[in-house]
Amino acid sequence: MTERLYYADSYLKEFDAEPVNLLEEGGKFWVQLDRTAFYPTSGGQMHDTGRLNDVRVTDVIEKEDVILHEVAEKITGTHLKGKIDWERRFDFMQQHTGFHLLAGAFLHQLRLETLSSHLGEDISTIDIGAASVSGTDIHRAEDLANQIIAENRPVRAAFADPKNLPELPLRKIPPVKTKIRLVEIQDFDLDPCGGTHVRHTGEVQLVKIVRWEKVRGYLRLYFYAGKRAVRHYRNLWGLTRDLNLELSAGEDEILARVRDFKSVLKVQKKEIQQLKEFWIDLEAKRLTDTAGEKGLDFCLHLYEGIDPADARQVAQKIVRETNLSAAIFIKSEKSWRLILAHPEKDTIDFRDWLDDIRVIRPVKGGGRPSWVEVLGEGSPEEVLKRVTAKFNENG
Ligand SMILES: [Zn+2]
Repeated sequence: MTERLYYADSYLKEFDAEPVNLLEEGGKFWVQLDRTAFYPTSGGQMHDTGRLNDVRVTDVIEKEDVILHEVAEKITGTHLKGKIDWERRFDFMQQHTGFHLLAGAFLHQLRLETLSSHLGEDISTIDIGAASVSGTDIHRAEDLANQIIAENRPVRAAFADPKNLPELPLRKIPPVKTKIRLVEIQDFDLDPCGGTHVRHTGEVQLVKIVRWEKVRGYLRLYFYAGKRAVRHYRNLWGLTRDLNLELSAGEDEILARVRDFKSVLKVQKKEIQQLKEFWIDLEAKRLTDTAGEKGLDFCLHLYEGIDPADARQVAQKIVRETNLSAAIFIKSEKSWRLILAHPEKDTIDFRDWLDDIRVIRPVKGGGRPSWVEVLGEGSPEEVLKRVTAKFNENG
């Protein structure tokens, strides 16, 4: 059984201990100590990290009454100095007390029970036993939690005899027979808990619920407490300031400005689509006329940097509305694309042409007898000549 020093003092950052068991399993080293201030992952709270002498503690778990510390390398010596990573621990203390405050607030303000919680490394969650709660009610509970923070009430932890539990104003009665640890936020919340907490609610600074979602019939709320909530506010402030500059709009004008942009964009999108259709018609006609003037039964053209989707439509229009085939090249800075298409009634299988093209240059792609698309690197000039020759052979 490991003595848990954090039960009596969650502010203990350094301690002395003796190793009672050293384990090695699958290349991992674990140490069991006679006593520890390291909190193991349990009750929704993440484990501490830190050092044992100069060796890094990377994970802490509990197995029944025993706490095991995963260490980066083998530990030697009979006397160890433990030091926990305080910044990480205090952050989790702020999240944990923040969670109790929210759970108490939902119960007092809305008569809603908390089902579970998870205090994550980035964000924490609290699951509330209700399918839906209005935003206004969520804010009422959040306001109450922050009021209790502002009142700086004491937070105490103590062990209680299970036979006294029915008389206590517990948030939840636990199903246990042994001694149980209770955490109390004075005159506000009393809950069985083995976690680490701040001494006064003021140390939580702030709790902020940032979003919520329905999960299997209950409500999951995501929240930040303490420094995390302040950091979140700072990030939002930074984002707002960037938007102010980017949109040349004050805070109260941003939304209207974005909506204006969206409606302008919608109109422009429609106009672009109409212009594209117009251009595709014109191009198909221009390429067909050029082929006619030259007495050819195919249209061949090289575009630079146009959208392949537009080129495809030009090719489609040519083969559908005339008896001509189409060879459309699109050249970009370092590569090119070739679309070969002919009317369905023609018997040529363009896939056979790919072998001839590959002799000149390695290409990727394929398709069906009447439509192939290939991608190549470098200049398309030689391939263009080869395709022209192929059309002439077949014409
Ligand atoms: Zn707790």
